Amino acid sequence: MFHRIDLGPTPFEPYTQHLAPSLTEDLRSLVQELRGSRVVHVNSTPVGGGVAEILRSLIPMSKGLGLDTDWYIISPPNSFFDVTKKLHNLLQGAEGGLTAEETRNYRLYGGETSSVDFGPLAADVWFLHDPQLLPLMSFLPEGWRPPIIWVCHIDLSAPNEETLNAVLPDVRKSDAQVFSMPYYVPASLESPNIHIIPPAIDPLSEKNRPMPMKEAQGYLASMGIDLTRPLVTQVSRFDPWKDPWGVVDAYKDAKGAFPGLQLAYLGASHAADDPEGKQIFERLGEYVGQDPDVHLYGDADIPLDRVDRVVNAFQTASDVLLQKSVREGFGLTVTEAMWKGQPVIGGNVGGIKAQIQDGHSGFLVDDVEQCAARIKQLLERPELRRSMGEAARESVRERFLLPRFLRDYLRAAIERKASQQRGTAEASSTRS
Ligand code: UDP
Repeated sequence: MFHRIDLGPTPFEPYTQHLAPSLTEDLRSLVQELRGSRVVHVNSTPVGGGVAEILRSLIPMSKGLGLDTDWYIISPPNSFFDVTKKLHNLLQGAEGGLTAEETRNYRLYGGETSSVDFGPLAADVWFLHDPQLLPLMSFLPEGWRPPIIWVCHIDLSAPNEETLNAVLPDVRKSDAQVFSMPYYVPASLESPNIHIIPPAIDPLSEKNRPMPMKEAQGYLASMGIDLTRPLVTQVSRFDPWKDPWGVVDAYKDAKGAFPGLQLAYLGASHAADDPEGKQIFERLGEYVGQDPDVHLYGDADIPLDRVDRVVNAFQTASDVLLQKSVREGFGLTVTEAMWKGQPVIGGNVGGIKAQIQDGHSGFLVDDVEQCAARIKQLLERPELRRSMGEAARESVRERFLLPRFLRDYLRAAIERKASQQRGTAEASSTRS
């Protein structure tokens, strides 16, 4: 049921060029404090989407610093992911609810752990990521339980209340909870141990390290983009909350002023836990109709081992980057593009609001008309693109690089460990 994702250490030294010296010192002393402790992360998929993206870098970086840490995934049947994607949509505010059958499917998978050997997962602290892992909370073997930190990566600002109330009892079984933004914390959770930890990107990964413009343009040209004409791009899973229809509408509107405009929508996330993507990809293709200047790329168009470089290339060489989401837990694609010196036009929601300073490091938009107007403005004014892009990169350097994220996680882990030790000491002094 659990599979270890085998990742070795990467040296930490190269990260320090991007960091304030005090952050590097903090990290080293926190790792020292956790010496002899083991930290385990569990999530539902090894690739695709923001969580896998973070863990792929966080684990090697942590090991490079000397931390004893590992990453495990669960491997449920596809029917489980059909339910958890629906649950994800409900928690972000979709109408409806899980049927009794779906609820049974969701919880059943947690129940299968009764026959599992938990030995390899023994740890001093667990980070459990997202609702997919919540049913586990009810089925851990008797007497076997590290302190558990549940991490919620989704936008809970306007949830479907009934669904939220249905999952909260499991959330409360965790010892602490992490949310990306303060306004995602459900008022009724009433937990004493809440951490606000916005996600971050790895500046040294293949996706985010500097790519020479010529190389980036080579990728675009090989994928059918005409380099002599402007290009607007959104990099996102094909998901209703990313507003793919709004992206196409804004492009069409802006094309009135820039007839040569092209649109790329890169949705090759290869995410096993997003079964909805293929269907939305097809529906979007029908919506676009016969427009040779719109390029939709799905999983089949970009092999997994090329995706990181292709995303890097589009974020580096596009003229305008969009993230027109209508809900967004955080939006790593925004961070990635800003790190490449691009001002992003983003939906005025969730984590995007926390990343883009409107009019300074990008633009926040509430609808298609605003989005189209900002596309036109950025296309007309390359010098504005440059100055905003510089502000964008600097704000990511200060706030959203992975070492800061690891520091926050380590602090949460240390707090949990200390609290457990206090609990054990109190219990033994009561006994004696
Ligand atoms: N991504 C990718 N290929 C794609 C589309 C997305 O590798 O074609 C990556 C993207 O670069 C980012 C992650 O998937 O690292 C998406 O994270 P985000 O937080 O933006 O959204 P989520 O998918 O988690 O809702």
